[in-house]
Amino acid sequence: MNAYWEVEVDKQPFYPNIGSMRLQFNIEKLPLEGEEFYIVLNKNDVHIDAVEDNIKATICIKKDGNACKSKGRLEYDLKLSCARCLTSFTRHFISEFNYEFKKANEYETSDIDKNEEAKDYLIINNLIDFEPPFHDLILLSTPMKSLCSEDCKGLCPICGINMNIEKCEHVGQTSKEEIIKEYQKNR
Ligand SMILES: [Zn+2]
Ligand SMILES: [Zn+2]
Repeated sequence: MNAYWEVEVDKQPFYPNIGSMRLQFNIEKLPLEGEEFYIVLNKNDVHIDAVEDNIKATICIKKDGNACKSKGRLEYDLKLSCARCLTSFTRHFISEFNYEFKKANEYETSDIDKNEEAKDYLIINNLIDFEPPFHDLILLSTPMKSLCSEDCKGLCPICGINMNIEKCEHVGQTSKEEIIKEYQKNR
């Protein structure tokens, strides 16, 4: 393992993503040994509404012949909605990434993945842009179904109150038969 990739995240200061450069890096003058970046992004930088501002990005970039490799991690909070009680909540995520950027003309002719875990993106005019991969990474990490807590009681199927907060007379009457009975009674 190359020492270059061993990032000590907590010992590094993070800098805000200032200006309109978005997430583009010019790799033309990248030092041979590569470079590490510690930046704080906002949701507009990755174009995802469900993510909170202050996304911490640790980005290592290193040239590899005509290609460019990048490894690192994103730390962020996602706004989620509980599948049982519909309450909004935030959850902290750490997603690691491993990308390979390739020049467009070499993209199709290069042999198939030496590193199967790496996902490929393009180098255009010596620029690599982390907006598309970060956007994908955060979206893919978003769970399809999430719960505010493992033992969330959900909503009462009869009166609809949030059973984590309130109690109603329907406790214990949540079986299908009882719901039908209740429905017929109230008709
Ligand atoms: Zn819940
Ligand atoms: Zn109820």
